[in-house]
Amino acid sequence: MALTSYGDPAGCKRYIFYRKRSFMNIKTNSNFHNIKETYLFSEIASRVRRYSAENPEKVLIRLGIGDVTLPLAPVVVSAMSDAAQEMGRGDTFRGYPPEAGYEFLRQAIADHYRDNNAEIKLSEIFVSDGAKSDLGNFVDILGANDVLIPDPVYPVYVDSNLMNGNIITLIKGSRENGFLPMPDAIGEKKAYVIYICSPNNPTGAAYNGEQLAAWVNYALETGSLIIYDSAYEAFITDELPHTIYGIEGADKCAVEICSFSKFAGFTGVRCGWTVVPEGLVSDDGTSLNKMWFRRQSTKFNGVSYPVQRAAEAALSKAGMHQCLANIDYYRRNAAMIADVLDRKGIFYTGGKNSPYIWLLCPDNMGSWEFFDKLLNEAQIVGTPGEGFGKAGEGYFRLTAFGTAENTAEACRRLESLL
Ligand SMILES: *Cc1c(COP(=O)(O)O)cnc(C)c1O
Repeated sequence: MALTSYGDPAGCKRYIFYRKRSFMNIKTNSNFHNIKETYLFSEIASRVRRYSAENPEKVLIRLGIGDVTLPLAPVVVSAMSDAAQEMGRGDTFRGYPPEAGYEFLRQAIADHYRDNNAEIKLSEIFVSDGAKSDLGNFVDILGANDVLIPDPVYPVYVDSNLMNGNIITLIKGSRENGFLPMPDAIGEKKAYVIYICSPNNPTGAAYNGEQLAAWVNYALETGSLIIYDSAYEAFITDELPHTIYGIEGADKCAVEICSFSKFAGFTGVRCGWTVVPEGLVSDDGTSLNKMWFRRQSTKFNGVSYPVQRAAEAALSKAGMHQCLANIDYYRRNAAMIADVLDRKGIFYTGGKNSPYIWLLCPDNMGSWEFFDKLLNEAQIVGTPGEGFGKAGEGYFRLTAFGTAENTAEACRRLESLL
């Protein structure tokens, strides 16, 4: 089929001949064989497609969305378009940005930390095209460490460590610990690279200050490094730390990775940052801050000027106000769903401090069994918990990223189904 596009039968034959002759003499990273194929989202899509084909009259409500849906805040849009205009004039055009980000944005991020009672130097802030890149790339500067990852969790931590051939120990989230595993559950007390995501995706659970202090103390005692993912920080409503640097000693043991994606709706714009404190030093005296700068300036050429101006605007007073209004909209959706579960006496975590609601499937149903029940009997699409790790079996994730109207309708359906 594709061969006809060559338009030259002889050329086609030559091409086939070389392809059949042999494999190349190059090796791939065999660690990639250890990564599980994720069938989760394709399996969901195929079950939904089949259902819709058989029931064309039914209207589905999608509460599996892991992406923001509200448009960008007006001050963000105007900052981005002003910056685009600047790029079109000779006297204000800019070429490559500084590798770690423009000072104006790093200053805005440092000010944001100060508002959350943490002092971060500009030299400790690295602007990037998003948290996922930084989470995936940070393993570049780390050696063959033992790695500790909570289960269930955002799959990037596990997969990027598997790609590097690292040994992973999972620490289990459960109903008993409210999906907030603590260091006292660690079997062998030793140094690990520890991943913490709070508020968590997928469980919505968030650590309080005392719990985070226990993790920081574990890290300081054992010489561990914490990689703290605070992507959902802006969803926190309770009195909980917005940053790990609110905890004493965290600047000696923790890297923090954050993002404009969930806070300012930048999933399509792309901007995030990583804080690497200057006090982080490896066993042989190497500065992690210097290494991360070296890694980034070698493999990354920075974030575009209009995007950095847009991010700066999101952190301005007006920007915060507008972005938090969007987050409030999602929060009200989450509260609607949580209300139904409260009335039905169904166990869940999240629903506040997070756009995610993580519920125990009723009647001991499996995650996929409950997925099919919601789809067939209430036309609601969610995400089976086991897609986020073994500890997610029997659980289910609903998200607050739908419209208020759809979420309200979904709640009416849940009310009569459950
Ligand atoms: C969405 C999300 C991010 C953000 O990733 P970006 O690359 O900045 O869009 C990071 N961590 C978790 C757990 C997330 O769910």
